[in-house]
Amino acid sequence: MELESILLPDVSERRPLVIAGPCSAETEEQVVGTAKELSAQGIRIYRAGIWKPRTKPGGFEGVGSIGLPWLQRVKEETGMYVSTEVATRYHVEEAVKYGVDLLWIGARTSANPFAVQEVADTLQATGFQGPVLIKNPVNPDLDLWIGAVERIYNAGIRKIGVIHRGFSSYDKKIYRNLPQWHIPIELKRRMPNLPMICDPSHIGGKRELIAPLSQQAMDLNYDGLIIESHCNPDCAWSDKEQQVSPDVLAYILNLLVIRDTKQTTESLTELRRQIDLIDEDLLTVLSKRMRISREIGQYKKEHNMPVLQALRYDEILEKRIKQAKEMGIGAGFMQLVFEAIHEESIRQQMEVLSVQ
Ligand code: PEP
Ligand code: MN
Repeated sequence: MELESILLPDVSERRPLVIAGPCSAETEEQVVGTAKELSAQGIRIYRAGIWKPRTKPGGFEGVGSIGLPWLQRVKEETGMYVSTEVATRYHVEEAVKYGVDLLWIGARTSANPFAVQEVADTLQATGFQGPVLIKNPVNPDLDLWIGAVERIYNAGIRKIGVIHRGFSSYDKKIYRNLPQWHIPIELKRRMPNLPMICDPSHIGGKRELIAPLSQQAMDLNYDGLIIESHCNPDCAWSDKEQQVSPDVLAYILNLLVIRDTKQTTESLTELRRQIDLIDEDLLTVLSKRMRISREIGQYKKEHNMPVLQALRYDEILEKRIKQAKEMGIGAGFMQLVFEAIHEESIRQQMEVLSVQ
């Protein structure tokens, strides 16, 4: 699929594209006041949720259409581009009518093909040209995310980008939404021209995580960031734990280290060649290990023994993790690797057993 890059004029070599603004539009003063502070910090694209998808009823569900003229005021008084989330036909029609420049599809909507199609059809009917940013669905399903991108593309929109905002999970010890970086990385591999924006506010769910997550995104060569910023974060009507004031935002952005993608890659090429060779070695060693597993399977079959011998497995795991630690390899990682190897060994032995 050919996806042109979204316009966004301030993508420069040294600074990522930044979209910032409050989680929700609350009052005209808050919307315009926050925008002026952000504009003074050099932010050029403003965000504010007009319609808010809340997990439970009773929460603040957004001010609705009365907030759209406030965004128009932001455009007039600061010259910023303005953006908001759309999830229904009505949202799209209203946002387009009021000249919102950039629309995004939220994580709950991306997970629902009926809703994405309704948004896509309305975009086409209104003649909106984009940009449209598509957040990852709440569940870690890459095809669903790509499906949402395709629906918007098929509606004639060519300025498309994606937002990585993390994936829902019961485990909220560190993150509000688990980053699962491998999913956006795989999306980037499959669609290299699709601009990728990180939303550290919704991944982290707390102010302290915005800087480290933004840095990680830069290290992974993301094209931009969307960060929640409010003129008075502690009093925000939604997501207050994860919003920062415009001056804190500027401080975070100034500390970001943007890697130089134009650096010579000669020495990298040499290192990558070494990695390729080592990977080949790894594959050879693994296939040798599997061959021996099959031989063990054959032996067990001939002696009528069960495949799984839990004690032996526990012993191997404990020993290998200890060895790995001594070699500076993380215990958690080693556990995962050996669990996967063990699972494959069992599968191979079962295969031997099933041959008559
Ligand atoms: C938001 O951007 O405020 C929002 C509701 O995000 P998400 O769809 O990622 O939950
Ligand atoms: Mn929010």
